[in-house]
Amino acid sequence: MSKTVLITGASRGIGRACAEVFAQNGYSVAINYNKSEAQALKLAQKLRESGCDADVFKADVSKSDQVNAMQAWAKERFGHIDVLINNAGISVVGLLTDLSDSQWDELRGVCLDGTVYCSRAFLPDMVRRHSGCIINISSVWGVHGASYEAAYSAVKAGIIGLTLALSKEYAPSGIRVNCIAPGVIDTDMSRCYDLEALAEETPLGRVGQPEEIAGAALFLAQAGFVTGQVLGADGGFGA
Ligand code: NAP
Repeated sequence: MSKTVLITGASRGIGRACAEVFAQNGYSVAINYNKSEAQALKLAQKLRESGCDADVFKADVSKSDQVNAMQAWAKERFGHIDVLINNAGISVVGLLTDLSDSQWDELRGVCLDGTVYCSRAFLPDMVRRHSGCIINISSVWGVHGASYEAAYSAVKAGIIGLTLALSKEYAPSGIRVNCIAPGVIDTDMSRCYDLEALAEETPLGRVGQPEEIAGAALFLAQAGFVTGQVLGADGGFGA
C-alpha cells in the first residue's frame, strides 16, 4: 500500500509544491484548501493524470469541527494518513500596536490553532498504528523574530514549542514530529515584500523556491531517526 500525506493549505505556494513532490515520490496525496477551490481541484487533476491517488477536502483549519470532519474524510478515503504537513498559514505585517483583535484571532487561528487542531485530530490514529510523522511549517521569524511581524513571529514560535513538546510526548508511540523554518520563499505570501532586497540579505543571494521547502519536508518524512528538530531552510538568512 502506498504511503499517504495530508497537506493543509495545499492549493497554493509551499503546500502545493509539497503535494507535487510527495506525489512524484509515490505518496497518495490529500489536498486541503480553504478558499482556492479551483486551484486545488486543478492540482488534484494534474496529480491524478500523473498516476497519483489524489483528492481534495475543503476545511478552514482554524475551525476544529471542520478539521475533525477532514480527518474523518481522510480515514474513509485513504485508510490512514502517514504524514501530516501542517502548512496552512497567513501573515500580518505591521506594528503590534496597530494589530486589531480580529487580525490576531485570524492569524493565531490559522497558524497556531490550525496546527493544534490538525495534530490533535490525526494523532490518535497514528498512535493506534504506532507510526506517523507530523511536519509543521514555522518560519525563520519564529526562531529569530522580525520587527513589524511580532504577531506572526509569536505564532510561528508557538509552532516550534508545540513541535518540541509533541515530539517528546509521542516518540514512545513511534510518531515523529519535526518542524521546518523557511526563510523568504517566492510565493503569494511573500510578494508584498521587496524580494530583491531580501535576496541580497540572504547569504545564498536569492530567495527560496517552494519546491525547496517541499524537498526539506520529504527529507523529514523519510528520516526515520529524526524527531524534535527545527530544520532551517532559509538560504542562511537565520544564520
Ligand atoms: P501562500 O502561497 O499564501 O499559501 C497559503 C496557503 O494556506 C494556501 O493554500 C491557503 O489556501 C492556505 N490557507 C490559508 N488560510 C487557510 C485556512 N484557514 N484553512 C486552510 N488553508 C488555509 O503561502 P505560503 O508562502 O505557501 O505559506 C505556506 C506556509 O509557509 C505558511 O504557514 C507560511 O507562514 C509559511 N512560510 C512562508 C514563507 C514565505 O516566505 N513564503 C516563509 C516562512 C514560512 P486557500 O487559498 O485555499 O485558502
